[in-house]
Amino acid sequence: MIGEGVMNIKRIPAKFIYLIFLAALVFSLGSVPGMADESYNSSLMGQVFAAAEADLGVVGPEHTLIITDIGSPAGSYVFLDDFYSEFYDRDLLYTKNLLTVQNSRNSPLWFAFFDKCSGNCTYIEVSYENESKISYKVTENINFGTLSKTPKSRAMWSEKVNKTVFDGREFAILTTSNGWATGKLDYELMQCLELHNHFCPGVSSGYVLANWMEENYPLKEGVGYTVFSCPNWCKDDVFVKRWDVTPGTGGIRVSSLTDDEKEALGGSPAGIFVVTDKNAGTMKAVVLGFDFDVVNAKCGAKDDDPGWVSKYLADLWLMDRENWNTEGLVSVISVMDIDEATLNEMKQADNNPYVVLGLLDPTENTDPSKNGAHGTGNSTN
Ligand SMILES: [Zn+2]
Repeated sequence: MIGEGVMNIKRIPAKFIYLIFLAALVFSLGSVPGMADESYNSSLMGQVFAAAEADLGVVGPEHTLIITDIGSPAGSYVFLDDFYSEFYDRDLLYTKNLLTVQNSRNSPLWFAFFDKCSGNCTYIEVSYENESKISYKVTENINFGTLSKTPKSRAMWSEKVNKTVFDGREFAILTTSNGWATGKLDYELMQCLELHNHFCPGVSSGYVLANWMEENYPLKEGVGYTVFSCPNWCKDDVFVKRWDVTPGTGGIRVSSLTDDEKEALGGSPAGIFVVTDKNAGTMKAVVLGFDFDVVNAKCGAKDDDPGWVSKYLADLWLMDRENWNTEGLVSVISVMDIDEATLNEMKQADNNPYVVLGLLDPTENTDPSKNGAHGTGNSTN
């Protein structure tokens, strides 16, 4: 090259420029790891993980669950790549160590790191509007067995719930973390919790009902469900996630019933599941009930238990598939063949689908002021 350069003087400036470019390139390449490392260490997500590790010790795949609403709060998506970089740096697994829940756009960006060995949970909120920083951090022991053991321990946690120590997410974090720690929380149920954002008996009942439907009216090719979630409660989010029945596509309709209407339907109606089989050319309305009295009687909860105790005990009982066939838990109120015209009538805003099916008298008391809140699953704390 030198010889060539000496022989062809005209080419030297071009080569010189080329060399400078090359040197600059080598220099910049050499500096990339250092620069990346620096921004990495000072990144907000790096701070979040470090803050959790300062309180919990090592965050690792065997014992850590991270629950976060990252991606939901406005603009928080910009932290997703950094978050997953920190996440995978610790050998954590998407299906084992993470629950990314849906929250509203005006929610804070928050993270709960749960360590199942100690039962400790570090809850962190960050702000990122002007300056990116950790705005709140607290570490609490949320082991259900410890918290629910004595009247004193219960009162202590109930007090922390009242003080919203996890900024109102105490129930969601406690039930999800403890359910996960049992090792028996079905991942497909966890996927529903991502949409529902908390683990409650209501969403658990939806999981039982969804599995009942799939077992009795399998989702074969050409088969689809249209759901009339009436009365509605937390269960309905399971159907949305599991069957892709969304309000926008007309797959699910949600409405309530008065206490009198519930009574007339046997006391515990859950909804109408219309099964359309395109191949067979059939349409069936499967009307199901779900009885929380059965759950409450069997799960070990007592009348004077605080909500976080009785609901978690109900969750635990409903997590066990062995219990799903308990008599009276799921009941078939009616199964009937219907046609397209009936389905369309059921969909009209003015119509009560149970009246359309002839299961309710149209003159039944429909005073909405007598509409009782469903006993379980609606409240989050
Ligand atoms: Zn719920």
